[in-house]
Formats: sequence, structure tokens, C-alpha cells
Amino acid sequence: VGEAPAAVSCARCGTVAAPAPLDWSCAREDGRERWLCPPCTRENVRSIEGRLDEAWW
Ligand SMILES: [Zn+2]
Repeated sequence: VGEAPAAVSCARCGTVAAPAPLDWSCAREDGRERWLCPPCTRENVRSIEGRLDEAWW
């Protein structure tokens, strides 16, 4: 079990939370961690389902 980050910031809206809340989602892309707060996680899922993803890489 790895240690939780001391602080995380949302990749979409920039909200910062410390320590990393359990209800935030973390995705690994190209070895980097992308954190999303719950509202942005929902928005992200919706955009993926709608194939409206932004410049994702
Ligand atoms: Zn957010």
C-alpha cells in the first residue's frame, strides 16, 4: 500500500485538497497522476461517454 499524497489538485478545476480525499479519483497517464474532484469526475465520465474529450494528451 503506497502512501497517500500530502496534497492533490484537481486536473480540471484546480481545486486543492490536503490530504488527498478518498472520494477523489486518480488516473495514471504517462506515468503522471491526474486527480479529479468528485464533480469533475462526473463531468469527465460524461465527456468520455459523449466523446467530447478535450485535449487529453
Ligand atoms: Zn475539480
